[in-house]
Amino acid sequence: MKLLPQIASCTLVLLLPLFGCHRASDEEKLRAFITTHLEQTEPLMKSGSLAEWNSNATGEKKYYDEQATAELRIRTIRSNPSDFAFLKTLKESGSVKDPLLQRQLIILFNNFARNQVDTAMLRALTDKQSAVAMAFNTNRGTLAGVVKSDNELQQILSVERNQDKRRAAWEALKQVGKKVAPMLIDLVKLRNQIARQLGFENYYMMMLATDEQDPGEILKVFDELATLTEAPFLSVKQSLDGELAKLFGIAPARLRPWHYEDQFFQEAPTGEGTNLDLLVKRKNVEAVARDFFSGMGLQAGDILDRSDLTPRAGKYQHAYEVDIDRQGDVRTMCNLSDNIYWLGTLLHELGHGVYSKNIDRSLPFLLRIEAHSLVTEAIAKLFEAQARNEEWLSAMIGLGKYDPAAIRKAGETQQRMGGLIFSRWSQVMMRFERALYENPDQDLNTLWWNLVEKYQRISRPERRNEPDWAAKIHFAQYPCYYHNYMLGRLATSQILNGLNKKVRQQEQTVEFSFAGLPAVGSYLKTNIFAPGLRLHWNDLLKQATGEGLTARFFTEQYCTKVGRTSAATSH
Ligand SMILES: [Zn+2]
Repeated sequence: MKLLPQIASCTLVLLLPLFGCHRASDEEKLRAFITTHLEQTEPLMKSGSLAEWNSNATGEKKYYDEQATAELRIRTIRSNPSDFAFLKTLKESGSVKDPLLQRQLIILFNNFARNQVDTAMLRALTDKQSAVAMAFNTNRGTLAGVVKSDNELQQILSVERNQDKRRAAWEALKQVGKKVAPMLIDLVKLRNQIARQLGFENYYMMMLATDEQDPGEILKVFDELATLTEAPFLSVKQSLDGELAKLFGIAPARLRPWHYEDQFFQEAPTGEGTNLDLLVKRKNVEAVARDFFSGMGLQAGDILDRSDLTPRAGKYQHAYEVDIDRQGDVRTMCNLSDNIYWLGTLLHELGHGVYSKNIDRSLPFLLRIEAHSLVTEAIAKLFEAQARNEEWLSAMIGLGKYDPAAIRKAGETQQRMGGLIFSRWSQVMMRFERALYENPDQDLNTLWWNLVEKYQRISRPERRNEPDWAAKIHFAQYPCYYHNYMLGRLATSQILNGLNKKVRQQEQTVEFSFAGLPAVGSYLKTNIFAPGLRLHWNDLLKQATGEGLTARFFTEQYCTKVGRTSAATSH
């Protein structure tokens, strides 16, 4: 069925001399290859994305199967050894000079490099991935024999004062870990087996290398960040622990994971100072988001119209955005509720959405995608932060009877705490995942709690030996990706600094409201969104902000003793 591009170009070589032309150039051969490749894969990518959407929307097995089939077919196409050899030779020859073609060659090469394994193994991989995903999405924890959604259990951790009830809810949230851990370890081993066949040390190393990232460089950035965030994090953590200890009437040393509002302690508690949730209560968060994006000239109405926004049984419990076809069918799946978390999450997902939507549509298909997952995460975080900005809340929602100074303080505290808390959590995730692929047979339960204690300063529960790490969906469904959330935050601060310079003519890394500022939309469209994958992500950042990815702006925003944010808003 498949016309081998090599055969196609050979025919061309034979025929052309009859007409007095030269041999098909390498660039011509590559163009022909891309055309054939896309004829095969583009429809599969679209049907796979749709099946994934439907599987997340319904939890029905047939959609998981459909998605797995599409993925397997794409992987099989990309596993063709002679196609890979063609790309490799071309890449090494340096004969492709056209910059757009060069980029497409790199993307194709990486896509093929990941899949140079036999079909049986690829099938086993997609089957296992699909089974874990389904187990995860359809799981509901049980509390005292009653089935509960993650949102309901998480709600208990937000409001419950009784420590036993909190502990029970926290444990219910971890039940999924026990259920999926054996499947997950099995999957990790298979992923490693594939990576080793391809000459990589393990799957983690392979995924980064084929995603234009250097594992050593990433570790260096995380080490640096660990040092820089340690003291400010400790101070934030101590004051939080002091409040919690008082609230629960226990010594700080007796605090355990279930005393924190977030089950992984990856986010700041929402109730710091004034509870921002009160502002959002009974507000239409969808309408607020629609108006906000439109005010920046980044219309998101069409994205919202295609989206699936409300919670229901069987549906994916988190949130995500997807560009179904790279031609404008951009959607998001959320489980909206009238609180600050879901308002922020909707802005986050729509941030991804307006990025996808505004990529230059005239770019070749392979480049009509975000520069890197870390860059799209950076944009999503940039918009998510607006939900905690007093100026923005005042413009978009109204502060009502609440004191603006108190709201400002609450928002800034949450933002600063959130940044520091997440940075420590991301250390746990990145280091655990790296170690997980280095040796999946080690004592992972102990490793997990060692890292949590070291970086997050949360004491492990006594007499518990459970795979609590496996309750984090990312290891199963988004492997070797989590570090990008943190790198994305570094980029958020860097882009925020760029926006301060461009829009406010200020040399600072401070939050400000984007409400009603088309200048923000046009800066992002031109400098970040439109170029797509035309440039390596770090070159894009260089071009947009004047330098490659650095932790400097994040440190400036989050780690200075008295944050610049506070200084700028004078208190
Ligand atoms: Zn995101």
